Parts: sequence; C-alpha cells; structure tokens
Amino acid sequence: MTTVQEQRTAEELKALAEQAGRDLEDASALEILQWAAETFGKRFCVTSSMEDAVVAHLASRAMPGVDVVFLDTGYHFEETIGTRDAVDAVMDVNVITLTPRRTVAEQDAEFGPKLHDRNPDLCCAMRKVEPLERGLKDYQAWATGLRRDESPTRANTPVVGWDDKRQKVKISPIARWTQDDVDAYVTEHGVLTNPLLMDGYASVGCAPCTRRVLQGEDARAGRWAGRSKTECGLHG
Ligand code: SF4
Repeated sequence: MTTVQEQRTAEELKALAEQAGRDLEDASALEILQWAAETFGKRFCVTSSMEDAVVAHLASRAMPGVDVVFLDTGYHFEETIGTRDAVDAVMDVNVITLTPRRTVAEQDAEFGPKLHDRNPDLCCAMRKVEPLERGLKDYQAWATGLRRDESPTRANTPVVGWDDKRQKVKISPIARWTQDDVDAYVTEHGVLTNPLLMDGYASVGCAPCTRRVLQGEDARAGRWAGRSKTECGLHG
C-alpha cells in the first residue's frame, strides 16, 4: 500500500519544510523530532558523526528504533568507531554504517596516498558526500546535529529547512542550542560521547583532518586546520 509519505512531491516537501521552519523555530528539540517522526515515519533518519549521541538520543525518544546513519570514511579515530559500536549496543536505535565505494587502499592506488592533504574536497566528495547521498536515497528527511554557535558558517542554520541539493527536508533540532545546553543534556541523560571530547577535541572528524582546539578557538577550528576549508560538503 502506498503511504501518504511516498506520495509527496519535492515541491510539497519543500513547502512542508519551509512552513515547519517557521512554526518550529521556538519549539524544543524533542518537539521538532516528534514532528519529524509523525510527518515522515520510516522515511526519516538521523545522521551522526559519533562525536556525541545527543541527537540520536533525542530522536530515539521521539521515535524508538529510529535509523541512525553513520559515514565510515575509513579514516576515523578508533574512539569514533567505539562510540558508534556503543550507541548501537545500548540505545534504542538502528545504526546504519555507510562506506565509500573505494577502500582507503583502493583510493591510494588510484589517486596516490594522502589525498586528504592534496585535495581534501575530492577526498570528502568520495568518502563522505557520495556515500551519504546514496544512503539518503530512500529517506525524505534527515536530522543533523548542526548548531548555530559552532561557527560563522552555521550561524543561520534553520531548525527545519530544505536541502535543495538532495531534495530532502533537513532538520537541525539542536540548532538553537549552545555547548552548555549539550553538556547539560549529556549529564542529565547519561548520553554517550566520544572520549576525544575529553582530550582537547571540540569537533571530531577524520583523524588526518582533525586536531585539538586551542583556547578561544571556535569548536570547528580543529577541522582542516590551516586550510580555508570549513565544511566537508555534507552541509553546504
Ligand atoms: Fe578525507 Fe579528511 Fe574529508 Fe575525511 S575529512 S573524507 S580524510 S579530506
């Protein structure tokens, strides 16, 4: 049987996203995710970098068993893979791991070693953007952990918006949160976090492209440090 969700066109989804962005601007993160669960059902997923499991935890409260999509680039810290495994083991979510078309060894053979140092945009395109787009194919809406306070490039993140590139509804339920709000939620609910956050890292990505942050730097300053690159292509 065809569901209401399956019948929606891109125009209808876009209108839905823009209306919800206005209506839910002041809603709590849980209310935003409850709206997503009711509106999209199984056509909704959460993406997680496994920096922490805050959005996955919130989403599992709104929709037990929710799909949590993780991109395994082949370059993650062991701690990140461990966090993914722990989330899978203890939370009421369905972790889905996406992998690039090429292993790191295959990429090295074809493009030369350390492509991340020479052409990080191409490396991210092959190891993050393409797998995500493949993985999101059957969903109408995806939730992220983007926050407005993370960096100037994220300052205008809507709580619900339209991802024109992928023709999906993009939900950022904690867009209005600060780091203090995240810390308070982690403490209150005992949420799993990546151990690297206790070791000087404020934002955790692939090992070759992530360093600890210095005092006074914004949370994403440790990503692609020394380069103009600030985003991997997943979010703009
Ligand atoms: Fe490659 Fe670095 Fe992008 Fe990871 S963050 S996919 S290693 S360029």
